[in-house]
Amino acid sequence: MKIIKNKAVIYARVSSKEQEETGYSLSSQKDYLLDYSERKDFRIIKTFSISESASGKNQREVFMKMMKYMSKNDIKILICEKVDRLTRNFRDAIVIDDWLDDDENKQVHLVKDSLVLHKNSRSQEKLNWGVRILFAKNYTDNLSEEVKKGQKQKIKEGWYPTKPPLGYKTTGEKGKKIHIIDKDVGPYIKKMFNLYATGNYSIKALSDKMFRLGFKSRNNIQVVKGRIHKMLSDPFYYGKFVWKGKMYQGNQEPIISKDLFEEVGFRLNGGNPHPYFRKRMTEFRGKTLCDKCKKTITWEYQKGNWYGGCKQCKSQLSKDKKYIRRKDVEEDLMKRIVTIAPKNDRILKILEKALKESHLEESEYHETKVKGMNNKLERIRQRVKTMYNDKLDERITAEFYDEKLKEFESEREDLTDALKRLDSDNSAYYRAGFGIHELAMRSNQIYLSSKASIEERRLLLSYAFSNIYILQGNIRVKYTKAFQFLQEWLPKVNEVLELENSVDNKEQKSTFVPLCPTMLRELDDVRTCVALLSVLY
Ligand SMILES: [Zn+2]
Repeated sequence: MKIIKNKAVIYARVSSKEQEETGYSLSSQKDYLLDYSERKDFRIIKTFSISESASGKNQREVFMKMMKYMSKNDIKILICEKVDRLTRNFRDAIVIDDWLDDDENKQVHLVKDSLVLHKNSRSQEKLNWGVRILFAKNYTDNLSEEVKKGQKQKIKEGWYPTKPPLGYKTTGEKGKKIHIIDKDVGPYIKKMFNLYATGNYSIKALSDKMFRLGFKSRNNIQVVKGRIHKMLSDPFYYGKFVWKGKMYQGNQEPIISKDLFEEVGFRLNGGNPHPYFRKRMTEFRGKTLCDKCKKTITWEYQKGNWYGGCKQCKSQLSKDKKYIRRKDVEEDLMKRIVTIAPKNDRILKILEKALKESHLEESEYHETKVKGMNNKLERIRQRVKTMYNDKLDERITAEFYDEKLKEFESEREDLTDALKRLDSDNSAYYRAGFGIHELAMRSNQIYLSSKASIEERRLLLSYAFSNIYILQGNIRVKYTKAFQFLQEWLPKVNEVLELENSVDNKEQKSTFVPLCPTMLRELDDVRTCVALLSVLY
């Protein structure tokens, strides 16, 4: 028995929304954590708490104050409810990691996540931590009510709620920022539109010409083609702005007239609508295919609607017409998503666990591969070194050395490339896994919620489907890998949960045998998990 209790600090945070909806307050979170501390025999020295509605700057201040306080007072234990209460950004996560790395006696207890982090945490726990930060960050990115509210207010007042395009600058106090024409750059913008409207310039030629005239990006370099194209399509310059696919009347002073903008837009697109409309179609681009000729469907904007048609074989995409409305396609797709979404929190938890395991395996596989490649690289380095000495000692000729060196160099390049690819593969895998969670957590909500924007729903669709085939009103889909997993997996999870209620469920195991081996392995985890869950419910 220890006589001196371990000193610890509590960090509590609660969102104002949660407080409103559930009545769950800061103090109940504190009580929960105090309770835990008592059981663990920790002595709480100080509690730091913050409300979610506090500004990001404020939150960070409290967080850093706490970290400082712990260092100063030699406190080695930090207690928090869950990862997303502790941090929602990678920056703070790194501060935590550094702090832990400093001393192996330091610990972070994430009580509801059942996670205790320390310097020598197992890789699985570290991964768990990483994935949770990713979720927390995603939560901030997507659902930050506060930011959205602020943005809405800005838009209502006629101001673009973010950095203005080149040619404008921001001025004014925080909360009252407005955009004015940058007197140094504005004239170039006007010139650029005028030049392009003549029809004598390609975008590339325009980029070069403008650079010669002295027009530069904020980083003081030539404004590249893609950027120029974007600027020429930006209605901001004639007094409007586009936010999340919707156009608003802005309060900023226009640089060009609407007529000039439209003239330029017409040229840009060979008579098609402005590219900013096209932006709203990126989610589907290349994914929708004609089910007869398997070529990409072309989407066109007509009188407030997008219509898809096959320019190749010109088949009827809807039942009685050549064109199909995007809205009809979307509605069909969303219904499909809902049918493969988890039905409740219990299933969600199970999925989370299964995913965690599979993440782990994947990342171990990558680790081994990366290690192998790095070893090879090191061997090459060594060989080059030896060879160089051989050359100096005249054991080999200079020609032989040069030739061999070239060989090594190319081998090194190949390996470096392969390593890079492996890195991006790894993140692709995470994204896919993340997609499942996204769906698991929100698809039903997103689909049913009146709050979800059309863009958010569309994003969900693009996560879910890799190919969408359309012909004569029939829609056939191919799910992305992540969602394929869900489609096969969720009915089984449901089944397991139902079995949980029956006393003898051993013989039911055969039901799951047809599942692929990975799922079978995860199924064992699910069964364990279900057993645990029955304690809770
Ligand atoms: Zn076709």
